[in-house]
Amino acid sequence: MDMTIKHSMPASDRPYYVAVSNEEQVFKAACRQGLSVLLKGPTGCGKTRFVEAMAHDLGRPLITVSCHDDLTTADLVGRYLLHGGETQWVDGPLTRAVREGAICYLDEVVEARQDTTVVLHPLADHRRQLPLERLGVTLTAAPGFCLVVSYNPGYQSVLKDLKDSTRQRMVAIEFGFPAPEVEEKIVAQEAGIDPKQAASLVRLAQAIRRLETGGLREVASTRVLITAGRLVAEGLTMSAAAKAAIAGPLTDDAKVSSGLAKMVDVYLGDGA
Ligand code: ADP
Repeated sequence: MDMTIKHSMPASDRPYYVAVSNEEQVFKAACRQGLSVLLKGPTGCGKTRFVEAMAHDLGRPLITVSCHDDLTTADLVGRYLLHGGETQWVDGPLTRAVREGAICYLDEVVEARQDTTVVLHPLADHRRQLPLERLGVTLTAAPGFCLVVSYNPGYQSVLKDLKDSTRQRMVAIEFGFPAPEVEEKIVAQEAGIDPKQAASLVRLAQAIRRLETGGLREVASTRVLITAGRLVAEGLTMSAAAKAAIAGPLTDDAKVSSGLAKMVDVYLGDGA
């Protein structure tokens, strides 16, 4: 089982998160009502950070599971494991969250197999129940339990599409990239660079986001801007940092890559 699970108690300091729209209000209202939440948006636009901030505000533990295409129901729910010659039941992350009343964040849930998402149905609707077939019991989620799933609509194939019956049980929050002045603030803060430099990186990102090219799997996210900013904080020039952290990771296609490098020179080259 090679999934990534992170279990954290609410941090005493609020994780740095700048609201982009009314997402905090919607999330908190949904959680208080015991509803599940669907976060939609491209990678690197702040979904994980948002959930961390919400767990802090609501005072709930947070269990994050990064989903992948081998993820099975047993990975989420639990399994019997051999322990000193005896078999012992070990709760999976979803079961732990249900018992503890934690926020359970399934990142990139469309990566998981469809049979996995089926266990989410009775949890996601008004029943808030998790059947543990192997144990012959059905758990009712403790107060405070909140199921949060994220997915990136850009990656979707028909096969991987979430079932409508799953989606219709959830409250959806759409994430996009923040407005330029907000994104500048985030990049400056997270990378520790001055606001002017952050603003130049954001202008470059916006130009990349306007490109209509099939060569890019993803556009430049807030995350790659922060990475570039961190290189700048280490003393790299803006253009060297942007080539390494923005242009490089976005594509392997030589033509697209040289096009991006030219854009970097225009937007951030010496004297720009
Ligand atoms: P996602 O989960 O959507 O892939 P993350 O939450 O990991 O993205 O965001 C990537 C990084 O961008 C975060 O670590 C954080 O530094 C920064 N970030 C993005 N959006 C925000 C925001 N609204 N407020 C604060 N930081 C943000």
